[in-house]
Amino acid sequence: MIQLEKLVKVYGSAKALDGLSLSVAAGEFFAFLGPNGAGKTTVIRILNGMTAMTSGRALIGGHDLAREPLAVKRLCGLAAQNLNLDGELSVRENLEIHGLLFGMSRADRQARSRELLEYVEMEERAGSLVKTLSGGLKRRLMIARALLHRPRLLFLDEPTVGLDPAIRRRLWGLIKKIRQDGVTVFLTTHYIEEAEFLADRVAFIHQGRLVSQGTPAELVAALGAWVVDRFGDAGIETRYFEAREEARRYLAENEFEGALRRVNLEDAFLAQTGKRVTE
Ligand code: ATP
Repeated sequence: MIQLEKLVKVYGSAKALDGLSLSVAAGEFFAFLGPNGAGKTTVIRILNGMTAMTSGRALIGGHDLAREPLAVKRLCGLAAQNLNLDGELSVRENLEIHGLLFGMSRADRQARSRELLEYVEMEERAGSLVKTLSGGLKRRLMIARALLHRPRLLFLDEPTVGLDPAIRRRLWGLIKKIRQDGVTVFLTTHYIEEAEFLADRVAFIHQGRLVSQGTPAELVAALGAWVVDRFGDAGIETRYFEAREEARRYLAENEFEGALRRVNLEDAFLAQTGKRVTE
């Protein structure tokens, strides 16, 4: 569904993307994980026609982005990172305008809006002005709107940023359901748990480059299964173990303040880049 070849994006003297290549298969749930400024939004902006790449090639659903931008646009839905809804219009009207822009018939717009408001559990808010909605409801509406014209590829750019943990988890449940319709999902996030919970495959992005990719299990496997974090004056020192018993023994036999936990994607990212995703 997505094939990127050596994508470069230069802003002034800074390289936001530095020769990024990757593929995403149809029906896959793919997550791009990286810290702020890594280049995630730049990829989404390029693929959604919001900025031009400096060099490289992008194929979406077999269409070359540079030569067939409209064909690509029809295939894609985008829930952007910034809340770009119209606050002065109702929930239903925001969906209506999006449907008009994508050339949907009146009957289709109405039926699909009802269906999606039910999907995001917002039927009762159809008539509410968007400016009266909570942050979590606005995010849900952004997703409903992005799905309205039945895209085959959905981009979710940091869809839960700024939400409290309980609301974030609820949104994850909803996002997970999107794949049931066979939609390919391209998610960007700097939340480790979000990538682990949602994605089939995760790619690490750092300083505009792809560092590595694989299933969450593959990415952490090289390190071991368990970690002991040792808290010291110089910061946290981590040690990896294959077996929990081994890690427990290490913790029990050594007199230091520490904690035992499972290896996660943050550990894998740190091991490969020397940086934390959440720094
Ligand atoms: P975030 O989650 O903070 O948006 P990101 O991984 O999506 O992070 P990008 O927004 O793609 O990162 O930014 C990548 C780099 O490009 C950063 O160094 C950023 O400052 C720079 N950048 C992004 N947009 C512009 C712009 N319009 N002009 C100049 N530099 C930009």
